[in-house]
Amino acid sequence: MMLGKDFDYIKIKDELLCVGASTPAGKLLSFCKKHDIRHFELLPKLPGTLGGMIKMNAGLKEFEIFNYLHSIQTDEGILLKEDIPHGYRWTDFQGLVLEARFEIHKGFNEAHLEMFKKMRDNQPTDPSAGSCFKNPQGDSAGRLIQEAGLKGYRIGDMAFSEKHANFLVNLGKGNFDEAMALILLAQKTVFEKFGVWLENEVIIVDERYQGKNSPLVRQEA
Ligand SMILES: Cc1cc2nc3c(=O)[nH]c(=O)nc-3n(C[C@H](O)[C@H](O)[C@H](O)COP(=O)(O)OP(=O)(O)OC[C@H]3O[C@@H](n4cnc5c(N)ncnc54)[C@H](O)[C@@H]3O)c2cc1C
Repeated sequence: MMLGKDFDYIKIKDELLCVGASTPAGKLLSFCKKHDIRHFELLPKLPGTLGGMIKMNAGLKEFEIFNYLHSIQTDEGILLKEDIPHGYRWTDFQGLVLEARFEIHKGFNEAHLEMFKKMRDNQPTDPSAGSCFKNPQGDSAGRLIQEAGLKGYRIGDMAFSEKHANFLVNLGKGNFDEAMALILLAQKTVFEKFGVWLENEVIIVDERYQGKNSPLVRQEA
């Protein structure tokens, strides 16, 4: 199920920035720049819509979409930020996000925008799902994969990017099995070399990895 255009809107109401869940990240960034609102400078070139960003607590470094969140409207009711368990790239709440409301702080920060744009410059433009693994505390998944000798490593048409090792890129007709082979190889190799288990940032939707009863796996009748 996907939310349609009715949920692609941005408005200011009761001194809060109210954003529909199917609003693209780029549109939100443009709005904030135009209206001199800060704390959304992390959004350039971040693919996706607000609903996905909220569910994943998307961010870069210490800048996360939850930082200035006030509340969310879901199909089950309103949830205040303080009532939503969340952390680095995870959240725990039920329901479908329809709208998110943010505190408004004035002063769009051009320097931050440039900093985030620069960070994006070392990310590949080949098709990917973004960062493959979460960064372990105090380290970077990309560095560990690179040190393990897997930067640029390719199976079939899937590879850990030459540009940034934590991006699993599709170089043509890459498929699920090739992607999984690389994910498992990186987890095993990094664990054997550094004793660190790389946790997936991507969500794997497949009964072989989630179990038949997972709500993530479509149940056949
Ligand atoms: C090149 C590239 C760079 C990226 N860089 C970053 C980055 O710097 N930081 C970062 O955090 N992410 C990054 N990502 C990952 C991705 O952009 C974010 O996770 C984004 O927030 C996903 O949004 P989406 O709309 O595509 O969500 P999806 O990928 O479609 O969904 C993500 C999850 O959210 C759930 N979901 C989606 N919409 C809703 C809703 N309305 N209500 C409830 N649940 C919902 C889905 O079921 C799924 O579990 C990057 C991806 C790419 C391809």
